[in-house]
Amino acid sequence: MNTKVDIVILGGGLAGLSLSIQLKRMEPALHVVVIERQRHPVREAAFKVGESTVEIAAHYFGHVLGLREHLEGEQIRKFGFRFFFSDGVAAIDRCTELGVSKLLPMVSWQLDRGRFENFLGERARELGVVFLDGATVKHVEPGRDGGTHRIDFEHDGDSLQLETHWLVDASGRASLLKRKFDLVEENAHDVNAVWWRVDGMVDPNLWSHDGDWLSRCTPPDRWRSTNHLCGRGYWAWMIPLASGAHSIGIVADGALHPLEQLKNHALATDWLREHQPALATLLDDPRHAVQDFRFLRHFSHGCKQVFSADRWAITGEAGLFLDPFYSPGSDFIAIANTYICELVGRDRAGRPLEAHAQIYDQIFHSFYESTLALYTDQYPIFGDPEVLPVKVIWDYTYYWGVLSQFFFQRRLADLAAFADLKLELAHCQALNRAVQALLREWSAARPLPTVPNPAEMLDQASLPWFAALNKSLLDRLDDAAFRERIRDSTQLMRILAAEIADRAEASGGVAAPALRQLLEEKPAPASTAPLPPRPMLFGTATAMGRLAAAEEAAA
Ligand SMILES: Cc1cc2nc3c(=O)[nH]c(=O)nc-3n(C[C@H](O)[C@H](O)[C@H](O)COP(=O)(O)OP(=O)(O)OC[C@H]3O[C@@H](n4cnc5c(N)ncnc54)[C@H](O)[C@@H]3O)c2cc1C
Repeated sequence: MNTKVDIVILGGGLAGLSLSIQLKRMEPALHVVVIERQRHPVREAAFKVGESTVEIAAHYFGHVLGLREHLEGEQIRKFGFRFFFSDGVAAIDRCTELGVSKLLPMVSWQLDRGRFENFLGERARELGVVFLDGATVKHVEPGRDGGTHRIDFEHDGDSLQLETHWLVDASGRASLLKRKFDLVEENAHDVNAVWWRVDGMVDPNLWSHDGDWLSRCTPPDRWRSTNHLCGRGYWAWMIPLASGAHSIGIVADGALHPLEQLKNHALATDWLREHQPALATLLDDPRHAVQDFRFLRHFSHGCKQVFSADRWAITGEAGLFLDPFYSPGSDFIAIANTYICELVGRDRAGRPLEAHAQIYDQIFHSFYESTLALYTDQYPIFGDPEVLPVKVIWDYTYYWGVLSQFFFQRRLADLAAFADLKLELAHCQALNRAVQALLREWSAARPLPTVPNPAEMLDQASLPWFAALNKSLLDRLDDAAFRERIRDSTQLMRILAAEIADRAEASGGVAAPALRQLLEEKPAPASTAPLPPRPMLFGTATAMGRLAAAEEAAA
């Protein structure tokens, strides 16, 4: 092995191995070394969390990294998200279910992380990456003023040294560079998680004998969804793993459900028995032997800087992490890795880095800030069968309409597009903040037990504009059409925000002055797209509408 290389990646987990593959696909001649502490092959199932993917990550792994064959053949095609408002309820088929009745066009997968990282390691080696498993980084000496970096590590009992032009920290929570450069940044989102894996598939369809309930989904494969069992201040996940196990987890706002009540398997099981008895009963089946148990306190964190013109970068959990609700972890890996490839490509082409490293860092942090607003102080809403469905649809409209469009249309590094769309993007961000505040107030305005929780499915697939937004990710757009797409999304968000404001006022008596002012003050950005049929969400032709109508009748 050469001791002077182009890029050293510290940590060969999801972020580091993905980046190595992306770099080699971009430029096969690059000399890339990945130093990973764990020996490969790693174990399947009870390995790491980060098992559910959403659209950006699915597109990244399947398309950008070219791994679709592995995903189709060796992992599980996901049946979207599914949410049940089942706190304290044994008969889940009597609660509201939010999800899709059929698969939407854009695919995503459930990942067995051990199986996936083993495959990523093999694929990286096939592409010529020097992947050193069982190797531990001991010391890093970053180069000054763009100079060469030095890494001391141990491998098979030997102490070794490498010099590198580029240095990328993908060491996960070890956060080697973040600590070294003093870039640790707390955020205001304070939640904790516990999780464990069990043998076998935990099938939600065992919750009912009701033929109508069982046939709500086509195919009737709820088990392939990331199933969320929701209550005030928390959600529990069920994620199937292709190696024949199921991942179970609980994520909770510590102020409402302290970690001390969940910190070991016995406590977590007791807690489930009280809060999600249907899941606890399924897990009592002796076939679901427990494989592991982990917990993590206050896992959400920021990072002051992730890209530098001094030829270092940070990706994955070594930098920042938000919250697993909506599974954005792998999305942010995809986005950070794409920016790192852009910077390395520029550097290889002899172009200056200073301005681009700074701007990409700012954009990346603005994605982080926008997404953090979906989570901070929002956990009390999670048990609300009326408000959480609205939030999920709003959050998805923002995600598919804006962030995903930049990723799918390969515009993350298109600074001209960011400049042209500056007003629209700022407006969407402001709308999102105002809507999140409104959702919070709306949910807090009435006691949760008074909120109807009827036995029906809020079928996102039945909202034509929502399904179309998902499908639109597959379009290929030229520059003009891309700008038009973001303007259309802005328009869509404005219309939806106005409907949500009306609904919150009617249902919760909550006025939304800040949001209404925003809708009045900011003229709608020009969009030539035909407007979606209105109401988008609260019409009587949709299950959302039926829910609204039922409430009005009860009142
Ligand atoms: C509760 C919870 C649930 C989550 N659920 C999801 C989800 O459903 N979907 C999703 O997309 N994301 C999810 N995430 C986020 C996801 O787990 C992370 O985004 C992802 O695992 C981060 O990958 P990584 O490569 O950055 O870190 P890791 O996978 O941790 O990899 C870091 C690697 O660095 C190595 N390393 C560390 N120190 C050294 C050293 N000194 N020398 C050599 N190697 C070293 C480690 O061995 C490790 O393999 C979840 C996170 C949490 C906390």
